[in-house]
Amino acid sequence: MSAKNEVFESISATTNALTSVNGYYGDYGGMFIPEILVPAFEEIKEHFEVIRHDDSFWQQYCALLADYSGRPTPLTYADRLTEHFGRAKIYIKREDLNHSGAHKINNALGQVMLAKKMGKTRVIAETGAGQHGVATATAAAKLGLSATIYMGREDMERQYANVFWMKRLGAEVVAVDYGSQTLKDAINEALRDWVSSFETTHYVLGTASGAHPFPAIVAYFQSIIGIETKEQIVRASGRLPSRVYACVGGGSNALGVFQAFYPHEEVKLIGIEAGGQGKESGKHASRIAYGEGKLGVAQGYKTLFLQNNDGQMNDTFSIAAGLDYVGVSPILAYLAERERVQFSAATDAEVIRALEIVMKTEGLIPALESTHAFAGAFHDIVESSKSDIFIINMSGRGDKDIFNIAEGLNDEEWKAFIHRKSKQFEVQAR
Ligand SMILES: *Cc1c(COP(=O)(O)O)cnc(C)c1O
Repeated sequence: MSAKNEVFESISATTNALTSVNGYYGDYGGMFIPEILVPAFEEIKEHFEVIRHDDSFWQQYCALLADYSGRPTPLTYADRLTEHFGRAKIYIKREDLNHSGAHKINNALGQVMLAKKMGKTRVIAETGAGQHGVATATAAAKLGLSATIYMGREDMERQYANVFWMKRLGAEVVAVDYGSQTLKDAINEALRDWVSSFETTHYVLGTASGAHPFPAIVAYFQSIIGIETKEQIVRASGRLPSRVYACVGGGSNALGVFQAFYPHEEVKLIGIEAGGQGKESGKHASRIAYGEGKLGVAQGYKTLFLQNNDGQMNDTFSIAAGLDYVGVSPILAYLAERERVQFSAATDAEVIRALEIVMKTEGLIPALESTHAFAGAFHDIVESSKSDIFIINMSGRGDKDIFNIAEGLNDEEWKAFIHRKSKQFEVQAR
């Protein structure tokens, strides 16, 4: 792995965001933060400036990922899937093979390293689906910091397996009991903590959104995905791909894989959002593809949010908890406006169909989030030719989704098993 992160530098040079004071990508981004947190953000900006010009930091980061998380992750040629469609050659970037099962660990380890560099002893994070909480708890355990994770009570109920692991990994999990008891309330609570703790505590943001410089920091750490992918595809096929697909929640895995291809205009970059039950149903989380996100300021930054005419955030829906988010990375909103990244959405039903194909042709179980990228690619592949190359970023593994997948597939045997299990507990409890 080469030393300095040239890939990240190329995108930040084009967008100018890192040289503009408050980190704008066109109209998007910025820093809308309470006065009291200004010193915390200044400190992070200052240290990020230092590390991104420091070859040895990037090398240490790459070494940790190699030794601990198993990087580089492979780029797998999907021969049976390719044969199934009989068109473009399909390659799959295997972020599922990271320790803890998804790309989120890249960012969590990077930011916990940054926290140590800043002399912090504690990290906090908010989590919706719990995956970012697990990644942060894992990184904090490995690097010896304490961790507190904020999570809405409602989300804890829905994702109890992740709560279990966070606690077992030594993190304190704080249930947020007010409001909708979901992600946005957890964000408020984490910020409340940070206001009084930033001297000892770093806030590990989980995706490429939020106030500047978080979108840049997360994009920087995740760029390792695309750096590897570009080297791997050139080695495997002697050329760049025609298209690269990634699912988009907040935007971190998409930016991670896209950045390396950004300077190569001939490579099409396609982000796939959660189409939920479809555009007409109103039950989805598609901010860009369905054209429904409106420019607004919330959660510290300006981007396209799913909101009503009064600026209240809408409820979002998706079979994939990690894509269920009202905002989107300001970097992606900007690249979409410039038409450098195209967006489409995959519905829950399309995702379940795509998942069945991937499992049976390749023996892979992508996370429901990642399966959106597959569904998007399968939609387009009928118009491709045999000389095309598609890369699909498989952001995570799907065995964590067993409850949702079994429900989505309407698996009767699984339902009967859950029933028997709960009966067994009832008997024991008596
Ligand atoms: C969290 C998550 C996502 C969505 O987050 P991004 O920041 O958009 O990448 C996608 N895939 C998996 C497996 C996730 O855990």
